Amino acid sequence: MPRSLARSAGPLPENGAMERLIDFSCERHMLCGGCGHRFVVDLEWVDRWEQGREECPGCGLTCEHEDAPLVTVDPDDPALDDTLVAQFAWYHTSTQPDWPTTESNPAAGLTPVTRRMMGGDERVAAWAARQRAKALHVGTYEAAVHNMLRRICDQADHCSQFYMYRVHLKPFVGVRDGWLIDPSNFVGDVDHEEVCPPGVDVARYLNYHEDPGGLSLALGREAIASVQRVAIPIPDAWDDDWVREVGAALESASDVLGPATGRLTRFRPPSSQRTALGRDLGRALAGKLPINLKDGFVSAARFDEGSDPEQWARRASGMLGLIENPGTVLAALDEAGHREV
Ligand SMILES: [Zn+2]
Repeated sequence: MPRSLARSAGPLPENGAMERLIDFSCERHMLCGGCGHRFVVDLEWVDRWEQGREECPGCGLTCEHEDAPLVTVDPDDPALDDTLVAQFAWYHTSTQPDWPTTESNPAAGLTPVTRRMMGGDERVAAWAARQRAKALHVGTYEAAVHNMLRRICDQADHCSQFYMYRVHLKPFVGVRDGWLIDPSNFVGDVDHEEVCPPGVDVARYLNYHEDPGGLSLALGREAIASVQRVAIPIPDAWDDDWVREVGAALESASDVLGPATGRLTRFRPPSSQRTALGRDLGRALAGKLPINLKDGFVSAARFDEGSDPEQWARRASGMLGLIENPGTVLAALDEAGHREV
């Protein structure tokens, strides 16, 4: 049995979708542009590679070279099977509570000042048309979590409420042949018509940054049948005992600002014992994660001066649960109602 079909989340196709094995640590396939050598590596190798400490086993190129090996699609990835694409559950994380939004006029919320700054009504209308033409993106569960961590690390979304969506496609969507190299250049803005010509509803593309090597889909709203949504963190995903224990420890640590301790203190702003403890706890949680998630997690779960101890503990533990215990998240999604799109 293909590993992807190892578990299934309920009946098909009315209200269920086929789940793929969720594995944040799985091996990655590499393809060298210099010598054409294909090889499989683990995440530790990728980490050393990115630091210039590994080379192509075929020709010795290191990551600095322009033809250096890049992550590529696993030839056994079940999402390469056109007939399975619509049956799989796909995932998306967003700060929008009603994704994919039905907002038909993206310019509706712009103030007169903003409209003027954008160059007047004509420019605003052109901008709104571009917004409407953008493709939506869905991917593996792992890619959705990677995406959320990256966005939380961005200052603008640090405190935002995030939602995890499970996306059900319409059963007979037209799938573009093969797969594309990530067309979005990491920022996610790609025209739907560009990647999905007439007759095509969804296009597969290779992720380089989020769940590297995994396949995501660019698609239009009309390819989606329904979505299920849960708010992050999910109560079942955090560890109650850890939250209580850590919440109490943080509560009893002083929140009085004092001079920073440790090395290079003159470069650091004053910090409280509570914040120092919170950051140590965040780093300890990150230590349990695969190497390519550690830095993102430390930043996303950062304890800020003035953070509420128990709220922080629930959020940090809940974020860890998304990665360590996806089953609880899928179970919460199973309970969530379907919203037709
Ligand atoms: Zn090579």
